[in-house]
Amino acid sequence: MSRSAYGKSPCYYCGRRISNAGWAKVSHMRKHVREGLVTEEQRIDYSQGTRNFRTYLRFSATEEGKRARRESIKQRRLQQGQGLLEYAMLLILVALIVIVLLVIFGRGIGNMFSNIISNI
Ligand SMILES: [Zn+2]
Repeated sequence: MSRSAYGKSPCYYCGRRISNAGWAKVSHMRKHVREGLVTEEQRIDYSQGTRNFRTYLRFSATEEGKRARRESIKQRRLQQGQGLLEYAMLLILVALIVIVLLVIFGRGIGNMFSNIISNI
């Protein structure tokens, strides 16, 4: 899962893919604030002077939020495992089909090649 500066990344708490745009993240996190998973905290930085302050938003996980985060990570790992399993099963299915086709038509195909070779 890529965590690039553009596009979307999965949310730590619910696993939904949310836009990396700052406002979209904040509005999504405020949903989790309402659910009680995180607390919102505003920090004001006066280091550039009282007239030139900057405000920061900080979302920290509550105990429930930490639990939701663990659960979400577990779910994502499980889904990745399932994807891998489906891929492996598909590969086995294709191999079985090829084997069955060779068993049924193998002799016919061999004869066909023999005929071609003897006719050259
Ligand atoms: Zn979320």
